[in-house]
Amino acid sequence: MSLDSIASIIRQHREERPDAVAIVEGGSEHTWRSIDEASSRLANAMAAAGVGRGDRVARIEKNGVDYFVTVFAASKIGATLVDVNWRLAPPEKQHIANDAGAKLLFVGNDFVGELGLIEPGLDTVTATIMVGEGGDGRPSLEEFMADHPATDPGVEAAPDDIALQLYTSGTTGLPKGVMLSNTNLFALIDEVPEKWQIHAESVSHVVMPTFHIAGSGWGIVSMAIGAKVVLDRDVDPSAILREIEEYKITTAIYVPAVLAFLQIVPNANDHDLSSMELIVYGASPITEDVLRGAMKQFSGTDFVQVYGLTETTGAVVELPPEDHDPENRPELLRAAGKPYPWIEMKIVGDDGNEVADGEIGEVWLKGTQIMVGYWNKPDETAKALNDEGWFRSGDAGYVKDGYLFLHDRVKDMIVSGGENVYPAEVENAIMGCPGVADAAVIGVPDEKWGEAVKAIVVKAPDTDVTPEAIIAWARERIAGFKVPKSVDFVDELPRNPSGKILKKDLRAPYWADRDR
Ligand code: ATP
Ligand code: MG
Repeated sequence: MSLDSIASIIRQHREERPDAVAIVEGGSEHTWRSIDEASSRLANAMAAAGVGRGDRVARIEKNGVDYFVTVFAASKIGATLVDVNWRLAPPEKQHIANDAGAKLLFVGNDFVGELGLIEPGLDTVTATIMVGEGGDGRPSLEEFMADHPATDPGVEAAPDDIALQLYTSGTTGLPKGVMLSNTNLFALIDEVPEKWQIHAESVSHVVMPTFHIAGSGWGIVSMAIGAKVVLDRDVDPSAILREIEEYKITTAIYVPAVLAFLQIVPNANDHDLSSMELIVYGASPITEDVLRGAMKQFSGTDFVQVYGLTETTGAVVELPPEDHDPENRPELLRAAGKPYPWIEMKIVGDDGNEVADGEIGEVWLKGTQIMVGYWNKPDETAKALNDEGWFRSGDAGYVKDGYLFLHDRVKDMIVSGGENVYPAEVENAIMGCPGVADAAVIGVPDEKWGEAVKAIVVKAPDTDVTPEAIIAWARERIAGFKVPKSVDFVDELPRNPSGKILKKDLRAPYWADRDR
């Protein structure tokens, strides 16, 4: 049987390995059979509640087995799950449920206190179901499914059906609903497991949030190969190390911020991490220090960097293990990698033409993983996706010897005195300055230059680096027009769950009454 929909994943493994453990969460084991039966009961319950083919249901809850049960249940009736970022504020969650036109809303007990702010403004939701305890007229998930049989409703999927509707992480603006079809998803699932040598005997760590492509994409790929998933409710660095040892985890995706946290867990060396065969990382830039540290911490482990977007069903560019060679090819530790053979990539300048190798432009991507479009946003879709199927990533970068080197978001580019400055380059330069623990570079309004380069820096503990020292350090390493004109210090940089610095939040106070 070949896989062609999310539902086909559970159908196949239920046949092949019913009593094997599919998911371990909080010490409890769930077999393929139990997940299959729960998802069939839920599918039947959702159908009875009026959810049909092409409809959407939404979920507000941290990672849990119920995510997989719900995603499989939706697929079994041709519907789509929208997993909402639980870190958003109540009005934002409400907006996403309404934007998606969700018919049902599944909510974890941790978020019951927000429902007073969310429920009154919901347009399309006909019932709220509590994951955990029910109450106040809202059934629990168990109660909702109780009277429904564990027989698969058996709806077959079409290639164009929307398998997942994921919202972008909202780093540059409001999150947009990205429609990913079965064709999009299986373009990735049909190829990467063999490439990464992950298979039914693998033990896969799913710790990144399922509302983001890193968590959901990785979780679904892991289940598609029939691996055992060790699922964490939320990112907890010490739990991650403990579980790697306890469950002999062989593979995982950890974003750069998580790889950095793992290195500073107290007594990190007490754990036996030798079971780990492959770590995939990506979703935000990694500094060379963090990468080298991670390669030291997981010394026998292969590392793969992936670059991609929600809109590209995740990974489309990869830096494979053999290119992680600090001794002989240190320059590649800064590369994002090469596009997959089934993906086309080009770098496009301001005039819409492809630029020469080595020149910076916007990364354009094409291929079977590119989204169907943004849900209910034809104008945004037309801006991002042209008639020939090229998708504009919004990321700036250049290609050298076939490798993509990312610079920054096109939107984050600073124009200072007519020169383009890419913050990533300045950040890389000043990150090496002694006493600098973390840094972000933004453009601030400037009478003379239009925009001036400003560095926002977190000092390393027990140090007292000065703005002058940072500016002098930068001056020795990058062109004068890229050197920060000023430095501000903060205790912490605002980041989102995938570790991306929220530049729009950093810029806001400086641009309070201007347009950018
Ligand atoms: P929004 O589109 O709503 O502003 P977002 O772009 O942050 O949010 P995602 O789809 O989660 O939402 O993230 C995609 C972005 O993540 C890419 O455009 C790129 O900027 C960044 N990214 C992904 N992988 C890498 C990587 N390996 N290195 C550097 N940056 C990466
Ligand atoms: Mg984006």
